[in-house]
Amino acid sequence: VGPEIAAEVRSTCPYCGVGCGILLRQDGAGGVAVKGDPEHPANRGRLCSKGAALGETVGLEGRLLAPQVNGQERGWDETLDLVAHRFRRTIADHGPDSVAFYVSGQMLTEDYYVANKLMKGFIGSANIDTNSRLCMASTVAGHRRAFGTDTVPGTYEDLEEADLIVLVGSNLAWCHPVLHQRVLAAKAAKGTKIVVVDPRRTATCDGADLHLPLALGSDVALFNLLLAAIYEGGAFDRDYIRQVEGFDAAVTKAMAASAEPTGLRSDLIARFCKMWLGHEKVVTVYSQGVNQSSAGTDKVNAILNCHLATGRIGKPGMGPFSVTGQPNAMGGREVGGLANMLACHMALEDPGHRAAVRSFWDAPAVPDRPGLKAVEMFRAVAEGRIKALWVMHSNPAVTLPEADAVQDAIAACDFTVVSDITAETDTAREAHVLLPAAAWSEKSGTVTNSDRTISRQRAVRAAPGQARPDWWHMAEIGRRMGWPRTFDYSGPAEIFREHAALSGIAGGFGLDFDISGLAGISDSDYDRLAPVRWPVASRQGGRFFADGRSFHPGGRMRMVPVAWRAPAARHAPRFPFRLNTGRIRDQWHTMTRSGLSPRLSAHLAEPFVEIHPADARRLKIAPDTLAEVTSPSGRAILRAQVTDSVQPGTVFAPMHWTGQTAPSGRIDALVAAATDPISGQPESKASVCAVAPFAA
Ligand code: SF4
Repeated sequence: VGPEIAAEVRSTCPYCGVGCGILLRQDGAGGVAVKGDPEHPANRGRLCSKGAALGETVGLEGRLLAPQVNGQERGWDETLDLVAHRFRRTIADHGPDSVAFYVSGQMLTEDYYVANKLMKGFIGSANIDTNSRLCMASTVAGHRRAFGTDTVPGTYEDLEEADLIVLVGSNLAWCHPVLHQRVLAAKAAKGTKIVVVDPRRTATCDGADLHLPLALGSDVALFNLLLAAIYEGGAFDRDYIRQVEGFDAAVTKAMAASAEPTGLRSDLIARFCKMWLGHEKVVTVYSQGVNQSSAGTDKVNAILNCHLATGRIGKPGMGPFSVTGQPNAMGGREVGGLANMLACHMALEDPGHRAAVRSFWDAPAVPDRPGLKAVEMFRAVAEGRIKALWVMHSNPAVTLPEADAVQDAIAACDFTVVSDITAETDTAREAHVLLPAAAWSEKSGTVTNSDRTISRQRAVRAAPGQARPDWWHMAEIGRRMGWPRTFDYSGPAEIFREHAALSGIAGGFGLDFDISGLAGISDSDYDRLAPVRWPVASRQGGRFFADGRSFHPGGRMRMVPVAWRAPAARHAPRFPFRLNTGRIRDQWHTMTRSGLSPRLSAHLAEPFVEIHPADARRLKIAPDTLAEVTSPSGRAILRAQVTDSVQPGTVFAPMHWTGQTAPSGRIDALVAAATDPISGQPESKASVCAVAPFAA
């Protein structure tokens, strides 16, 4: 099952959704050497600190090298038979909805495809959800409300053509560094204006013309004020809005908006609106500050409304643009890896789509209702409704909100399988069965980045020990559960062709995701596949929404009336602060890979909490001392960074650390499990907490 190994290959960085191309070669000493691929359209040779340090992270330290059952090494056959038997028995005793897969935006599209097919087509449940639920689910829901499909309209080139770039809830400089470099290069070349909308003053503000430090969670109010200014200034596009539904209702809501929730000075809001109205070529880039919210879907639509009202979408240098956190969050969306989606952007709730997918897969059943979204899934595990769980390349015992309760739930689950490259995660430690997976540089497949560009990841060396690719794990389980012919894949190229052929059915329904032009690709052409932006079919080369038509029945775009509402977690006297969480520049997720690089670990070496000087003074917390941060669901001991980059009454802490000794992170243990009612995405940036000096 191993890929053919070449001495040097073109591959893709496994970290963020920018999707930078990498030239990867064996270094002759058992490791790999990396440099940016000058021919990849995402990065044109650039790499950030994380990408450049990839060669330091591929050693065998901590690697899971053999299957394990209850901590004992076992052979593959015995382990796979056990997993298939336990899933089959659980389904026979308790029905298909008693099992669940929790998958990951770190997985390759081919792996994701097999996971989704096994669960939705053959097990017959929609209980497969992905950690992309924590990343992009609100954007998916907002896109579907406005466009009828989960279509990212923009491309990276639009950022270079824009005259004004508005970055909302995005620390692009740290979280998508190469994209930020492209933005700064455009500013240097043509004077592009940059506005940052963020409660914190981040590194991204350094290159900005204007920073709007709005109150946590108040984005809907700000963009409604902008929509009202567009209307009052007569800046809406009269021709365009004839083909847009909901303009009057959205404007009525916007006209009722107040500036008060934003906490912004009126002159700052007026300057922002003047800049937006004064530049036709506007791209609004948004990320987790928008998505990770109990009002995330409304925030997305508040942004889309402004672009739809002005017709600034589907044209060069204009449009809303979500940038994804993970390298393959987009690929997961494409295969239907979310519990409320079917494959290839088809809709679970559409009987025609379900019938077509079932027929294509020759599947016994395709569920007709959504499965459990991430937070609901682990709640069901805690309540014993999920009795067999398979977690792939994710560490929900650290990253889900109320993470301590999630860890307890996983520990108490009847049967838990974890596929990963390491056994040293909080989730893997609770598993009954560990399946060793091939890692980046050892596995082959495709990923899709934030601007819909599909790129190859390629192996440059063999997987160590008994590690195997994820598609192989799942195909083996599918075969052993009773579908030997269906899951008899020879490798990722065959899976890719099947996915591409299925996308042609989606294209036949008039949907956006169509790569059927690649359905006949040979193995050797797949090996050589250069980066390509979808769609790759009849619409190839075209720009989405250039004709102003959406994918809704009737083809009209939809503006959605939205009104601001406060974050879900309510202040109480015991918890007077708002807790904002996020990433730092040089670490990735729970540091299972980036933590292996001494260079990356030197940037910020321990977990910290940013607190405003006025709050620190009042609480007698001196800079660089330890502070205790508590919430209704957890506690962390963090190094105090006293800084006015955060606002009084708010604190910020990174999400990467997992340790138990002070200073200790596990910051998601403190985050409330409040979710957006439409997208199911957790509100990771506006929980409540208390802060005090730490007394050992
Ligand atoms: Fe990797 Fe993202 Fe850095 Fe590019 S910007 S090198 S994809 S982490």
